[in-house]
Amino acid sequence: MRNIILIAPPAAGKGTVAKLLVDKYGYVHISTGDILRDMAKVENEFGKNLASLLQEGKLIPDDIVYEAVEKRLSMPDLSNGYILDGFPRNLEQAIKYDEILKNINRDLGVVIELKTPKEVLEKRITGRYICSDCGATHNTLTGVNTPKVDGVCNECGGKLNQRKDDNYESFQVRYQTYLDKTYPLIDFYQEKGVLSSIDSYQPEDTFKEIEAIIND
Ligand code: AMP
Repeated sequence: MRNIILIAPPAAGKGTVAKLLVDKYGYVHISTGDILRDMAKVENEFGKNLASLLQEGKLIPDDIVYEAVEKRLSMPDLSNGYILDGFPRNLEQAIKYDEILKNINRDLGVVIELKTPKEVLEKRITGRYICSDCGATHNTLTGVNTPKVDGVCNECGGKLNQRKDDNYESFQVRYQTYLDKTYPLIDFYQEKGVLSSIDSYQPEDTFKEIEAIIND
């Protein structure tokens, strides 16, 4: 399978479509946000600094991200292909990723931009609650999987938590960071001839369009 890079603003549905692709095609989902959130749980100065950058919605320094990505890409479970969700996030990272690919002898694959209007993203972020047991995503504002009981998971009855960076202020920073730092990657990958752009209002439709791209 061709590797996939997902480029999208926060809450455009990268995680949701990645899960659908993992279930149907056996891709490995590599989310740098998830990796960094795990690293931030370590109870030392480094973990604390990371946690506060994440909470503010700021990008983590490139060196830390490179180390995490290189470590993950050196693992032996990627032969079916992988989805990069959240990396690269700026031009420096994209250039570094080209270098990493050369070193590990892998192909870039396809780059998919998911497009969603800012107002939709804001509701998805500020109303998003995730089950601490099964990981199911709920939303109190969009009408998609509204919790039937406040704070309780519809699927398994687990406790719903809000990510620390899923608040209005952090969203504004993350969205602006996307426009300033990540959006230039669209031109970068367009010039390489590997970019496809799709609207991502409905995960099922988005998934079908992605299937058409990867099976092309
Ligand atoms: P995400 O889960 O992709 O929305 O990422 C959550 C947060 O993790 C971001 O707001 C950044 O603070 C951090 N992050 C994730 N990926 C990267 C990256 N490639 N470079 C720098 N920071 C990142």
